[in-house]
Order: sequence, then C-alpha cells, then structure tokens
Amino acid sequence: MHQTPEKLPTWDLSDLYEGPEDPRIEEDLLAACQQALTFEEQWRGRLTEEGLQAGDLRRALEQYEALQRLAILPQTYASLLFSTDTTDPRRGALVQKTREMATSIATHLIFFDLEIGRISEATWARLVNAPELAAYRHYLEHERDLAAHYLSEPEEKVLEETANCRGRAFRRLFTELTSRLKYPFEQEGRTRELTQSEVLAMFYDPDREIRRQSSKVLGKTLERHAHPLHFTFNTLLLEHQVMDRLRGFSRPEASRNLDNEIPDQAVDTMVDVVVSNYDLVARYYRLKKKFLGLEELWHYDRYAPLLSERTTISFQEARGIVLEAFQDFSPRFAELALPFFEKDWIDAAPAPGKRGGAFCAGVTPDKHPYVLMNFTGKPRDVMTLAHELGHGLHDCLASCQTLLNYNPVLPLAETASIFAEMLVFEKLQTRLDSPRARLGLLAEKLEDTFATVFRQVSMFRFEQRVHNQRREKGELDLETINRIWQESLQEMFADSLTLGEEHRWTWLYVPHFIQTPFYVYAYAFGELLVLSLYARYQKEGAAFQERYFDLLASGGSRSPQGLLTELEIDITRAEFWQGGCDLIARNVQSAEALALELGQPPR
Ligand SMILES: [Zn+2]
Repeated sequence: MHQTPEKLPTWDLSDLYEGPEDPRIEEDLLAACQQALTFEEQWRGRLTEEGLQAGDLRRALEQYEALQRLAILPQTYASLLFSTDTTDPRRGALVQKTREMATSIATHLIFFDLEIGRISEATWARLVNAPELAAYRHYLEHERDLAAHYLSEPEEKVLEETANCRGRAFRRLFTELTSRLKYPFEQEGRTRELTQSEVLAMFYDPDREIRRQSSKVLGKTLERHAHPLHFTFNTLLLEHQVMDRLRGFSRPEASRNLDNEIPDQAVDTMVDVVVSNYDLVARYYRLKKKFLGLEELWHYDRYAPLLSERTTISFQEARGIVLEAFQDFSPRFAELALPFFEKDWIDAAPAPGKRGGAFCAGVTPDKHPYVLMNFTGKPRDVMTLAHELGHGLHDCLASCQTLLNYNPVLPLAETASIFAEMLVFEKLQTRLDSPRARLGLLAEKLEDTFATVFRQVSMFRFEQRVHNQRREKGELDLETINRIWQESLQEMFADSLTLGEEHRWTWLYVPHFIQTPFYVYAYAFGELLVLSLYARYQKEGAAFQERYFDLLASGGSRSPQGLLTELEIDITRAEFWQGGCDLIARNVQSAEALALELGQPPR
C-alpha cells in the first residue's frame, strides 16, 4: 500500500526576525549591551545603600527586565533556528554569537544579583511589604536565597566569561553530536539511515523484529560514539562538582532544588514514595508479558502495543483530536491553541539535522511561544503534540506577568503539559467502546505514566549515584556508568523485564543529564501533581477550571509551595504523593480486569 506522505507543518519565525541576516538581530543585541552599560552606571552601589527606596528598586527592576527582553529575543531566535538544522554552520555560528553577546551583557549585570543579596536585613524588612514591590516580592526573595551561594563579583565575572568555553561549549557539542548521529537500519536487504527520533519511534512498532533491531541499532550506534559523549558527561560531572564546592552546595541536586524552589525534603519524600511503589511497574509488565504470550520481556518490548493493529494518525487528525479535547475542557483552551496551527507556530516535520524530541519555547510575555516536535504518525505523537501545546497555553496564560515572573519554576512547568495530555487521553478513551481497544489505550497511558514517574525517578537516582561516585572515586569509566545505569533502571522492573546488553549504552543519548542535571524529577513531580489535580477536576468541574487557570496565569510569580498550598496541597507529606501513586494503581487494576475480561491467551 502506498500513501503520499502528508505535508507536515514547519514554523514561521518571522514574528521574531526576518531571517538570520536581519540587521535587527545585531541592533537588538547592541541596544541591550548599551542599556546594560547605562544600567550599571546608574545602579551600581545603590541597592546596598541604607536609604534605598521601594520606588527606586522597582524602577531598577523594570529597566532590568526591559534590557533582558532585548537580549532574549536574538538568543531565542538563534536557538530556534539552530534546532531545525543543527548541521548548518551558519546557524551554529549565530547561536555562538548571541551567546557571546549575552555573556558580555551579563557581566555588566552580575552586580545587580549580588547587590539584591546584600541588601541589609534592616532595609529588606522595611521594603519587603512595600506595595511598589508587590509584583517582584517573590522574585527578590528567591534572588536573596540564591545569592547566599554567589561568589565575589570578579569571580562571578570570570565564571560567566569562561562559561561559553566550559560547560556551555560541551553542552552544545553534545547537541551537535547527537543530532548528527545516523542510525543504519537494515530492512528487506536495504539499509536506511535513520535519525534518533525515527529509531526511538520504532520501539512502539507492533513487529517485534523491528523493535529488536532498533534496540540493536540504537545500542551499537551509541557504543560507536561513546567516547566523545562519555568524555562530555565526565567533564560536566567534574564541573558540577567544582561549582558545588565553590558555591557551598552540600549535595549534587541541591542547586537544582533551590532553583526549583522545592525543599530537599519534599523531593526526598516524593522519590521515596515512588520507589516504594516500584512494584506497580513489575505488576503491569508481568501482565503484559502474559498478554503478549512472551517467554521473556526485553527492554525493547516495553512499548510494544498490546493490540496488534498498526494505527497511523495524520497530523490533521491529531490536530482535530487535540483541539476537541481542549474544547471539551474549556473553549478558552481551544481558542488559545488554535493560532499555533493557523499561524505556523509549530514545527512538526522530521528532518535531517533537526534535533530530536520535542519542546515548547516560551520567548517573552509579549511574544508567542513556539513548539518543536518530530511527528511520525504514532498515536503517541498526538500525546506529544498535546503535551507541548499544554506548555504553550501555560505561557500564553502567564503572558499577563512581567518577564521576571513569566517562566514557571520547573516542577510546575510540567503541570499544564501533562494535564493537556490527560485531557487528550480521556478524549481518546471515550471514543472507544470495545474492551480490547480500551485496554490498548489504557496500556499506552500506563506505559507513558511509568516513563514519566518511575523511569524519571530511576534516572534521577542514576544521576545521584553517578555524581556521588564521581566525588568519591574520581573520573568514572564507561563500564562503571553503564553498570550504574543498568542497576538504576532494573530496580523498577524487578524480574518482570530484562534490560539486556544493548540497553547499557542508552544513557548516552539522554539530553537532560547533560543540559539540565537533575531536571528529570520535575516530570515525576508534575505527573503525580496532575493526577491529583485531574481527580479534583473530575469532582469539582467548572469550579476547578477557574482555580486551574489562576494557577497557570501565576507563571513564576510565586513559589510552587505557595501556589499549591492555596489548592490545599502539601508537597512535604508522603500521603500526597501516595495519593497520586494510588491513582496509577487503580489504572493497573483496570488493565488487569480488562485483560481478564478478554481472556488472556493461553501460554
Ligand atoms: Zn514538557
């Protein structure tokens, strides 16, 4: 059967700049530089004066935001352009140029963050409740917490100036290396060169041979390129260690927790609760093994569809499903999502050199966000589309905030995205009436939840172990990291599934370990939080919607704990996290019941 492939959308970045040669890019960067210089001249030394007035501090913050905005636009534009073709040297050069300019801007602004931290306690007590500063109170308080870990200004300057040839350079190298990787996939005597997204999509193929081969190709290719990727990781482990020592962070994930504004204890509690529920994963995969009639379940069978039929969904259909699900929740949601499609804010077409995975980039409150994904027609891609649009809606709703209050902190950053996925899941579920189809979809949802909650917690524990061992034992060889990776991931499956040899190499492609260490727990945090929010929505209906909109519209203007306390949620209590796991357990039970109803095939 031959089908003409559908033309997939690519984004239109002209709302930012005309093109890479647009003179406004340079103009904005130079203007930001100029404003940074003026800003420094005007404000250096002022914040630490005893007589500092609330109105003055507010003016400084507003100027600071305005010049930050000017610097963000060219940087975001360059990185968006780069992400759709990381092999184009001109795009790489533009990213580098905007980064270097941003650094020279940042060196003039370091004093500002430091001085916020040095505002005396007496002055701060006088200013903290001033109405002029109400909109920035949370920002200032958080900056003061961060400032406790700052070094002196000359030291901070050196760190910033050398960042582009230290950690940031290695992170860029990682993106370039992994985006260029070609995965040679043999089928029917022909070898096709696949991108990483295409290879990973094959793990969802009903044909076991295709899955087995994609696992082999993934493992072999990563093994072949292990040297530079491993070197990059090791270098970043050391950098993290050094920075933690200099800045006085007691444990590897402490700086992330502070950035996330989540107390260490809340993260520890969540992780403990998730680990104590690992048996849910094993229980489900035992069911899956039986249902598929397999002797042994391998890691490449994890996402094998429970139903044998192959479903391909066009982008047009995906768009319809997502918009309908949003509309059912609230017409306002659908309204906010529509321009993403109509005005080309989405880049969905896979292309050589395009980075893998998916993301939503919020720019500034006065500019709309952009979504990147690699659409391959799998049902899972519909969920990814919903996920990224969820981020997009969050950004749109938070556009009432000023720049410093715009971006939600990481643990809340995944709330809207996972909630949107849940809406689409429910939509798809109501369309199905046969138990067989319902089980198929439920299985997909469960596997996604396992990937989001349990897998991310396993990955978090992998990171903890690797960072800690680096600190205790020095540089880690490949074998050691491979082993820690296997152990950390095997724990959640117990004996229900065998990871196998090729799996050992798969930590090498995970961008989070490189780009944002310890990011991964935010996914588990987000998913468990959303499960309980969703349960609330089902109970409260319309009354919940308003509270939910308020939560999203708050952006980063308040701490997650503060926002969630208002919804009567206490993230430091194990009971809260267990509540989320109980909802997953209920889905595992439903899957078991459906499988029984269908009569598991005899072994
Ligand atoms: Zn996300």
